[in-house]
Amino acid sequence: MKLVAGNWKMNGDKAMAQALVADLAARQAAKRAASAVVLCPPAYLLPQVAAAAAGKRLNVGGQDCSAEAGPGAFTGEISATMLRDAGCDYVIVGHSERRARHGESDALVRAKAERALAAGLIPIICVGETLEQRQSGDAVAVVRRQVAGSLPDSARQQVVVIAYEPVWAIGTGKTATPDDVRAMHGEIRAQVAGLGPQVPPVPLLYGGSVKPDNAAELMAQPNVDGALVGGASLKAADFWAIVEACR
Ligand code: PEP
Repeated sequence: MKLVAGNWKMNGDKAMAQALVADLAARQAAKRAASAVVLCPPAYLLPQVAAAAAGKRLNVGGQDCSAEAGPGAFTGEISATMLRDAGCDYVIVGHSERRARHGESDALVRAKAERALAAGLIPIICVGETLEQRQSGDAVAVVRRQVAGSLPDSARQQVVVIAYEPVWAIGTGKTATPDDVRAMHGEIRAQVAGLGPQVPPVPLLYGGSVKPDNAAELMAQPNVDGALVGGASLKAADFWAIVEACR
């Protein structure tokens, strides 16, 4: 079964969250989704979304977590343990917006992923090249370096998810072509396989302007095990169309 995660980013409020989760839950009740579904709202909405999603086959995830175990003096941070306590099963780490805007390194992303695993969360580890890196022919090398540096050592025994999100395709309406996606996912799959036997296998998500009209083709590519969706996850009909495109 594929996995579709919706990253709400810094969008939404209590009323929007209530309406969106109720709409998704109704769609799930009417016809069981073709994929596992994860909702990643802003942190302050997590308890509300988790309560509304409980028993509805909708999972909840954070958008980031601290690399510190805590508790302690880490103003503004939220620990993986807190996310678990708020009802999360997943957490996104290393999103390109955090790598670019907050200078997050591969080592920091790996530390966050390790904290997530220790807290019982499944980390969705994001990697992806910039437009400049792609145009200069470095996309594969950049992504391989990010995967090598961001994946926890224990990734062979514990469940981790990798999301390939080319930076130039995020929020831009520019989607990687199916050929681009197939090629990069093949590279990542081979790299991960090179780490040794995977128990269980690592799901590889594609993210970057996934929309209802391109989802089916992208999701049909080999080694694409689901999607990480930004903008389109804010509208129930669009998000559910992507979930259903995995059928
Ligand atoms: C994202 O934020 O992870 C993302 C893929 O955004 P969008 O779908 O809006 O490009």
